[in-house]
Amino acid sequence: MERITHFIGGKKWEGVAQRTGEVFNPATGAVVAHVDFATADVLDNAVQVAQKAFVEWRTTSLAKRTQTLFAFREIVNQRKEELAAAITREHGKVLSDALGEVTRGLEVIEFACGIPHLLKGSYSESVSTSIDVYSIRQPLGVAAIISPFNFPAMVPMWFFPIAIAAGNCVIVKPSEKDPTPTMLVAQYWKEAGLPDGVFNVVHGDKVAVDAILNHPGIASVSFVGSTPIAQYIYENGAKSGKRVQALGGAKNHMLVLPDADLDLAADAAVNAGFGSAGERCMAISALVAVEPVADTLVAKIAERMAKLTTGDGTQGADMGPLVTSVHRDKVASYVDAGVKAGATLVVDGRNPKINGSAAGFWLGPTLFDHVRTDMSIYTDEIFGPVLSVIRVKSYEEGLGLINSHRYGNGTAIFTNDGGAARRFQNEVNVGMVGINVPIPVPTAYYSFGGWKSSLFGDTHAHGTEGVHFFTRGKVVTSRWLDPSHGGINLGFPQNR
Ligand code: NAD
Repeated sequence: MERITHFIGGKKWEGVAQRTGEVFNPATGAVVAHVDFATADVLDNAVQVAQKAFVEWRTTSLAKRTQTLFAFREIVNQRKEELAAAITREHGKVLSDALGEVTRGLEVIEFACGIPHLLKGSYSESVSTSIDVYSIRQPLGVAAIISPFNFPAMVPMWFFPIAIAAGNCVIVKPSEKDPTPTMLVAQYWKEAGLPDGVFNVVHGDKVAVDAILNHPGIASVSFVGSTPIAQYIYENGAKSGKRVQALGGAKNHMLVLPDADLDLAADAAVNAGFGSAGERCMAISALVAVEPVADTLVAKIAERMAKLTTGDGTQGADMGPLVTSVHRDKVASYVDAGVKAGATLVVDGRNPKINGSAAGFWLGPTLFDHVRTDMSIYTDEIFGPVLSVIRVKSYEEGLGLINSHRYGNGTAIFTNDGGAARRFQNEVNVGMVGINVPIPVPTAYYSFGGWKSSLFGDTHAHGTEGVHFFTRGKVVTSRWLDPSHGGINLGFPQNR
């Protein structure tokens, strides 16, 4: 049985773990590896190694840091099939989707290759007589990244390329459910020539996370995961003086206006509702249909769903399994609850036809209609292949519904009316908005993040906000003396 362990100081940890976790292949239900869980001591060791590496890395020239970034980019690009295969094996998403994830992660690496430009400060000459002022940005030190299971390659890549390019050392704590992609990434960094100790991996669960939150040697925490844990990370990380960005859960609404292209909207709802088995923080899980289009739209969606195949992600299915049997059962229990609460079950995914092993963690695509806002299938993030249709009478009613929901990660409007779309982008209280685009994940040079209970902290991931998060600003006021002297003056300095 394969054993996955920590990666500290450029090599695999050689200790014996007190606790381990099982890693499954969700398509077969089989345990494929055991992963070591870190104690506070292991985490402390990683922090010390990273702090030591930081001394040199932060003063390594921008030219050399950028060369390492470019080399890393090349390796990830050449080995993306290997990375995608590891994602599919432990997460379950189909191979083409796993490759898409790696490609979106690569975009952030490419963005970080431009770090010399991104770190440029500003300079003002002669703000006062003989005095110049300039700003610089410096790295924080050791940055921790705690990631969720659903994008085991892309989500850590939202953070570490920028953190490392900016001169920080990082400790990644990947999800214990699919730790291998991060181990491959550690190997790629080494091959790219990154000095040992700059990129470290510590595996584990709450024990490792709490050790990160409590360690005084960690300067920042970038977290992505469910909302209760994001809030916990934000509060406890901030309490111990860390800079924290904590991205949480979602319930993404798609508002379809009566003038929309209903075929485009139905395609989008199916792609965004069931891609990656709904285990995406940008999945559409609530479709808000402005009457009179609901009957037609639901029929078009159901027709498309009938053609979807569910099965092993390596065998060309449209949709793979859920990540664990526990999660599959939880999602299925929401379907039961929806039926009990009186929603109309249009397509039932609870006994799907599978192209793969019967022991996999399967649930087929599921569609509910006539969903009310008091039902748990509407209020809660389900994180599975369950799409709910809510019927409303007007744009205003639909907008009010979206703005009242506790989550505000992503949303989309489908319409052919530019004025209505423009009004929506202005009025909706959500961080990422799509106009006739169902999964509006911002490209790497913009920043990713939601509002309300979908993000704790004020800084979104990657883009210029990412550069700001991983650096501290410093302003220097300087005077190089000319032969004349100003003499003594105890007054507050004023620009003259
Ligand atoms: P999760 O919250 O269970 O786990 C996330 C991380 O927290 C993991 O590394 C895990 O080991 C750790 N963790 C789990 N329980 C913990 C605890 N009690 N104390 C401390 N740490 C703990 O999330 P998940 O199930 O891995 O991922 C799915 C969730 O992530 C969904 O809610 C999804 O919406 C969210 N997500 C959000 C975004 C975003 O950008 N907002 C992106 C991807 C995923």
